[in-house]
Amino acid sequence: MTIGIVGGGQLGRMLALAGYPLGLDFLFIDPSADAPAARLAPLLAGDMEDPALLGELARRSDVVSFDWENVSVKALAAAARGTRIAPPLRALAAAQDRLSEKRTFERLGIPTTRFAPVDSRAALQRAVRRIGLPGVLKTRRMGYDGKGQFVLRSPADVDTAWQRLGTSPLLYEEFVPFDFEVSVIGARARDGSIVIYPLNRNYHSEGVLRLTIAPWGTPRLSRAAAMSLTRVLEAFAYVGVLTIEFFVRRGRLVANEMAPRVHNSGHWTIEGAVTSQFENHLRAIVGLPLGQTAARGHAAMINLIGEMPAARSWLAEPGLHWHDYGKNARHGRKVGHCTVVEASIGRRDRRARSLLARLYPQLRPPP
Ligand code: AMP
Repeated sequence: MTIGIVGGGQLGRMLALAGYPLGLDFLFIDPSADAPAARLAPLLAGDMEDPALLGELARRSDVVSFDWENVSVKALAAAARGTRIAPPLRALAAAQDRLSEKRTFERLGIPTTRFAPVDSRAALQRAVRRIGLPGVLKTRRMGYDGKGQFVLRSPADVDTAWQRLGTSPLLYEEFVPFDFEVSVIGARARDGSIVIYPLNRNYHSEGVLRLTIAPWGTPRLSRAAAMSLTRVLEAFAYVGVLTIEFFVRRGRLVANEMAPRVHNSGHWTIEGAVTSQFENHLRAIVGLPLGQTAARGHAAMINLIGEMPAARSWLAEPGLHWHDYGKNARHGRKVGHCTVVEASIGRRDRRARSLLARLYPQLRPPP
């Protein structure tokens, strides 16, 4: 069976790595002929909205999926004709637009930030008056890793924010002085069964995820996150892996965004859970039973950003799992990650701190 994947980045590559033991084959589309997935599977190089390329992908695949959420829903729907697409395009469309994403959370009773759509300078001023300051102005589409965002702290920032972002459809939302950020990842299969991983606690710097530790959190917080995730999975009759990111403020979850795909904060599941998020995504979309999501210990995953460190010195670290995505070095780019799984929370946290200090001496250590 062939899985066609739009996007051949590291997520696609790790999907292929998880799929080969299941006997699956892969075909990718990516603008770059040497994208991370290209070393593992055939790749159609070109525009990910090209109807001819998408049509070929669909013809040669039994099911079509995607490894990033900004693929064109229209182009994909038109090209797929008869080939199954998973996750469902309705969920993809909702996740692509921050406004429909927030409305989805609201409709499903999932606590989220107060928000208002903004399509003019006057609308921004009204939104600032209604929601207050500080607040965050975000592009509705194509934002990731903190890109396309502006934090407004005083009324005087309205002009600058509007000049920076005013050419795109926008959303203004309250600034949440959160205590920390968590994410929850789960999968729904075609028969409606659902599995959910333990909660992840995430540490960002400069808008980019640096460290995830999992399992994390109290049973109450985990239950609340799992309940929100279940509601979204069921509302879309979802098939595949879905992620929701939350702010945590005074012990309560505030949904920030969702991703209709495997997620960076779930990379620890490769070595740290019974079944990885990548394998469960594939099991879900091809109609196999879902795998168990229990943790196998206490995992810490650290992103390798900008340039791959020399594997030789890092692999001397006991128990360190190394993932090199085969990307060229570039400032701020995710080029790999590493994971350790320890027998206790204390050991995991000490390990995470020491690895982080060695990799990123300039970063403030997590509390
Ligand atoms: P996003 O692209 O929405 O995930 O935002 C990237 C990062 O910006 C988040 O992980 C937060 O650290 C920060 N951020 C985004 N929205 C807010 C908000 N409403 N309040 C506080 N911080 C935010």
